[in-house]
Amino acid sequence: MIFTLPPLPYAMDALEPYMSQQTIEYHYGKHLQTYLDNLNRLTEGTPYSEVSLEHLILTTTGPIFNNAAQVWNHTFFFETLSPEPVKIPVELEFALTRDFGSIEEFKTKFKKAATEIFGSGWAWLAQDNAGSLHIIKESNAGNPMRAGYKPLMTIDVWEHAYYIDYRNRRGEFIDKCWGLINWKKVAKRMHEDMLTARITDMSETRTEGAIEVTVIEETITEKPKKSMDRYICITCGWVYDPAEGDPENGIPPGTPFDALPEEWICPACGVGKDYFEKER
Ligand code: MN
Repeated sequence: MIFTLPPLPYAMDALEPYMSQQTIEYHYGKHLQTYLDNLNRLTEGTPYSEVSLEHLILTTTGPIFNNAAQVWNHTFFFETLSPEPVKIPVELEFALTRDFGSIEEFKTKFKKAATEIFGSGWAWLAQDNAGSLHIIKESNAGNPMRAGYKPLMTIDVWEHAYYIDYRNRRGEFIDKCWGLINWKKVAKRMHEDMLTARITDMSETRTEGAIEVTVIEETITEKPKKSMDRYICITCGWVYDPAEGDPENGIPPGTPFDALPEEWICPACGVGKDYFEKER
C-alpha cells in the first residue's frame, strides 16, 4: 500500500493574487510530491506503510518522521486555504478573543511567532485538551500533535512557501495569508477528533492497520475529557448547561463551566460564577 495525496481542493490559479499559480505548481506539485515520494520509498514493504500518517508522526523520528509530517502538514495547510474569503464564525471569534484578547491581537501574535521562527518551519494555531487555543512555533517538519495539541490552522514558513511571490518578505506573506484562511474549517476542527478527522479527510483510499490505530485511539482517550457538568445558581436556581452554553451572552454550546470567562454572570439574576455550584 502506498500513501497518496488528496487532490488540491481548488484550481492551481485559484489563490491568486495572494498565492500565485507558479507557487502552487512548485509547492504542491513539486515540494509536496517529493515528500510523498520519499515517504513511499522509505516505507515500502515495511510495517510503516500499513499505518496512518498520524501514527508515523507520533511514533517515528528521522527521515520517516520528516517526510510523513511534511506530507501531513502540507495537506493540512492546503486544505485550510480558500479562494473565497471566509468570515470567522462566532464560536471561533469567541475562543480567539478569550485566549488572545481580540482577533487583531491574535493575528499580530501569530505573525510575530511566524516571523520569529528561525529558518524553516510552521506556525500553528492549536487547541489543548481543555479547549484553550495556543500559537505554536515548530521548526522544520514539526507538528504540535506530538506535544498533545490538536492542530487547527497552520502557515508554512519554509522559504519555498513564499519566495516566488514575496521573495524574503515572510511578514507580508503572513499578512496576505489571512485573506486565504478558511475560518469555517478551522472552527469545525475545534470539535473534531484529531486523528479520525484527519484520517477521513486525508485519504479515502488508505486503510488503517487495525492494531496500530487502536494504539493511537488509546492515547487520545487517556486525555482528560471536557467536563460537561451542569452548574446551578445558588441565588436564583438558574442552571448552566455546557451543552447549551449561553449563546445570548457570547458563550457557545460545548463550553464547560470552568471555561466561562471570569466576568460571566448568571443571565437570570446577575451574580458571578462564585455563586454557582455543581448540580447533584
Ligand atoms: Mn512547504
